[in-house]
Amino acid sequence: MFCDEFKQKQQFVTNYFETLFQNKKHLAHAYLLTGNSPLEQYYLALQIARVLNCKDLVLNKDCNCINCSWIKQNKHPAVITVSPIDFLFTREGVKAQPATVIKIDQAQYLKKILMSTSSYHRVIIFTNARQGKEYHHNAQLMWQGYNDKISSPSGIDDEEERCDWIPAPLSRKILNVESANSLLKTIEEPNSNITFFFLSNNKDDMIDTIVSRCQTIQFASYKPNMHIPQRINALLQNFPPSSTAQALYLAEETIKIAKEESLSLSEILDNIQHYLLQVLKANTQNTLISKRIINSISEIEKTKQNLKSYVSPQAALDCLYQSFMHV
Ligand SMILES: [Zn+2]
Repeated sequence: MFCDEFKQKQQFVTNYFETLFQNKKHLAHAYLLTGNSPLEQYYLALQIARVLNCKDLVLNKDCNCINCSWIKQNKHPAVITVSPIDFLFTREGVKAQPATVIKIDQAQYLKKILMSTSSYHRVIIFTNARQGKEYHHNAQLMWQGYNDKISSPSGIDDEEERCDWIPAPLSRKILNVESANSLLKTIEEPNSNITFFFLSNNKDDMIDTIVSRCQTIQFASYKPNMHIPQRINALLQNFPPSSTAQALYLAEETIKIAKEESLSLSEILDNIQHYLLQVLKANTQNTLISKRIINSISEIEKTKQNLKSYVSPQAALDCLYQSFMHV
């Protein structure tokens, strides 16, 4: 039921769900997925939606029945992705603007929709998500291996291409108490054909009332050392940042890479210095570029010192990337 890529990386999760379906056991009402790969979590939720809605009930990853193919294209009415930028509705069902949190209005409207009966098994995926040009490189890296297997959810305008959409882990800030609490009853006693998924890094990032109503499935977190240089290269495609927003984005991404790859920020900064040295070597003829790169390398050196003297990592990196705008 899963592709080889997923099976290899997530053996426990694969065995768990394959056994569950083979033994025709019931799913839990709600699952909290934890780990450092939100796209794999998203893939799992969509695959489960396929198994539950497949017309032929074949546990075949290559099935292309109408339900399977709609779910692959992420256009099936049974699958709802709720994030600050997806399923944007007000309480009355009017389309709303993207936000930074999952709003109580979205929760209320979802509740309303779920009260109506459906012949499908509905799968509701709560996640954080990002979209935009600045996520393009990240999206390319993250979606490798999954491009032809699942799709990003449709945007506000259904025709919109969302190749730079990426799922991200939920936090207490994104799915806050107010929005979550308005859904607790629905999660607790859904009718038997609704399954909820919450995508997260860690149980501790989620509100207790959600955690206590979910079965937690821990995904294997892995350290693909091979792609650290690749991730940093992707990050530095936007180097030097041309706006404050881009500088802050780079700072945020650097912290994220450090967290996901379990590296210290100094190690990441070493890698960036190494990268810049390579660029410097290739540009020795160009005095202007050389000067900028040398200045950048020394700014990074200063930041490493600052980090040692307990300056907040976020502040240090925000400052560093903004300094690159002017070097
Ligand atoms: Zn099918």
